[in-house]
Amino acid sequence: MKIKRILIANRGEIALRALRTIQEMGKEAIVVHSTADKDALYVKYADASICIGAPRSSDSYLNIPAILSAAEISEADAIFPGYGFLSENQNFVEICQKHNIKFIGPSVEAMSLMSDKSKAKQVMQRAGVPVVPGSDGEITDMSVAKKLAKEIGYPVILKAAAGGGGRGMRVVEKEEDLEKNFWAAESEAMSAFGDGSMYMEKYISNPRHIEVQILADEHGNAVHIGERDCSMQRRHQKLIEESPASLLDETTRKKLHQTAITATKAIGYCGAGTFEFLYDQKSKEFYFIEMNTRLQVEHCVSEMVSGLDLIEWMIRIAEGEKLLSQDEINLSGHALECRITAEDPKSFVPNPGKIIKYIAPGGRNVRMDSYIYEGYSVLPYYDSMIGKLIVYEKDRNRAIAKMRVALDELVIQGIKTTKDFHRTMMDNLDFINNKYDTNYLSKH
Ligand code: ADP
Repeated sequence: MKIKRILIANRGEIALRALRTIQEMGKEAIVVHSTADKDALYVKYADASICIGAPRSSDSYLNIPAILSAAEISEADAIFPGYGFLSENQNFVEICQKHNIKFIGPSVEAMSLMSDKSKAKQVMQRAGVPVVPGSDGEITDMSVAKKLAKEIGYPVILKAAAGGGGRGMRVVEKEEDLEKNFWAAESEAMSAFGDGSMYMEKYISNPRHIEVQILADEHGNAVHIGERDCSMQRRHQKLIEESPASLLDETTRKKLHQTAITATKAIGYCGAGTFEFLYDQKSKEFYFIEMNTRLQVEHCVSEMVSGLDLIEWMIRIAEGEKLLSQDEINLSGHALECRITAEDPKSFVPNPGKIIKYIAPGGRNVRMDSYIYEGYSVLPYYDSMIGKLIVYEKDRNRAIAKMRVALDELVIQGIKTTKDFHRTMMDNLDFINNKYDTNYLSKH
């Protein structure tokens, strides 16, 4: 099936990012927007735009009837969900199907297998994928929790089955703290995700977060687009991402890629997806933690090292096309990404407002994926990420050097941003020497 017109059910940088690929492919890009987003660049550049509601996400970007009506009015034949919002909403995928609109993403079945993180681990374990030791599914009974924690050994981590964005997690150091942390995490998960199911894992100390990007088509072919290292985090949220993960030796890297391919095939997955692992630097073992059944923020670093446009491939897969073979995918060089957010660089408190001056960096292999412009007001209603600065070079050290220059060139005035945080990190010796773990910032 050839797709002619795609509705982008998202906003911000990813809406603009998707729009470009859609138009480059000779297709029409229809966008939806809230009343607050009427001046957004992606609205300006779209082939057609439809206002779907008030600023609050629940009234607009999460409003399924409004988005479906927009798709029908504009005669879109497919929907691109991006990340966040409805990208992992099974109900939305089913409704798209009923209305004969192609959802550019995996099937409801594959999505549902991976949506509950504790169940996903069980599925993966059955497929022979190493997982972090922990509970078999949800924990409901405190005495069972205590017994299990003793078995696997403290520290343990309590995690929300429906969790995302680093929320609904609690590290527990000793038995006395288990019960109160459990209830606190459960109520946090309940209010953030409307689902308080919790599971338990061994807390891996000093891990790296390494994930594998995969693509799979409807003909049963699956390939990997290498791995990403996303270990520079604050409160379990990624700040800097890169590809490849330079600390892996070739044997471990190959094993990791092969594991991701096996996992993809085991669940009959189709589309773009990411398998996330924690990597124990001492034992060189990796453990599956979750799969994201959508495009991720940090997909750009994989695009840079592979030369592929991942959104183009998501669309081609949705059209029923056959994938490239693994031999046709050449990974080379090193890509680095800094997430620029409208936040105070020290406290990370959001700082929306009007941008009075903006100069984007440029040059060979410097990519600024952002939606801001001079005079644009960053809105308080949505995620504070205003863009991603991505650079590509021959090797990691040269990529870091390029990022330094690019960050120095970047000017954003009128609001506080995390630019200075990233600039400091590019001179940080532990980062430069690649000697850090996911808890680095909490310790320094
Ligand atoms: P989310 O879905 O909220 O992103 P993840 O399960 O992907 O949550 O975990 C996010 C981050 O939390 C990981 O990258 C890692 O830093 C930390 N984390 C999660 N599980 C563990 C664990 N068992 N041990 C140590 N750190 C963990």
